[in-house]
Amino acid sequence: MHRTGYSRLLFLPLLALLTGCASSGVNRGDVNLVSLEEEWQLGAQLEQDIAQQVPLVNDQAALAYINEMGRRIVAQTEMRNLPWGFHIIADPSINAFNIPGGHIYVHTGLIEQAGSAAELAGVMAHEISHGVARHGTERLTQSYGLNIVAAVLLGQDPAAYQQILAQVLGTGAIAKFSRDDEREADDLGVDYMYRASYNPEGMVRMFQTLLEERQRRPSSIEQFFSTHPLSEERIDNVRQEIAKLPSRQGLVMNDNGFNSLQQRVGR
Ligand code: ZN
Repeated sequence: MHRTGYSRLLFLPLLALLTGCASSGVNRGDVNLVSLEEEWQLGAQLEQDIAQQVPLVNDQAALAYINEMGRRIVAQTEMRNLPWGFHIIADPSINAFNIPGGHIYVHTGLIEQAGSAAELAGVMAHEISHGVARHGTERLTQSYGLNIVAAVLLGQDPAAYQQILAQVLGTGAIAKFSRDDEREADDLGVDYMYRASYNPEGMVRMFQTLLEERQRRPSSIEQFFSTHPLSEERIDNVRQEIAKLPSRQGLVMNDNGFNSLQQRVGR
């Protein structure tokens, strides 16, 4: 079934309305029957329920740092005019995830493992890219079909909403992403990092760290790998994407704020 043309017709005017710019086709993937407005509404609802059920970090300096990093990356995307939110979860396992409606969550365990600001930015750029490419609502469309999100938002299908929430709380993602989703999020992420002046090499290093941790203590990183398939092949792909970029002075690998972030969220 090919409805891509149909969904784009719906999507383009809304995107133009919400962001004030036409899509250059970031959402080039699968069918998505969820409107941006519905997606942001669903995200707001999920954000509230997640806040009740996970231990969020409230340290204002830590949140200011992660929000500044997130906004700097989002500013390079087509969704720069939408309200994004960046959150830290006090959890020693290594994970980060994106839910519909521009919310990104990073575990303290991932912040501790990251070796530099650029490594953290690599994960953030990857998660932001899933959001910009709307992979979450693409997967919802695939799993639940037409109008489910509308029904969920109108309170007509509480069971479906609880299922979506349980999925996010259980696996740290709205859905398991496909290899194509991962590749798209990596490719977009490298580009956004570069334009935000973070050294995209940070993404390569972070992925290497994640693969090493999988060898060392697999249980600490299980969730991340269950929703974001990661392999050496992805790292090679990221390297190739970086090689295509013109060399540029002043790309940031680390900053003082990152070191104090690690101290603030450290155990
Ligand atoms: Zn991913």
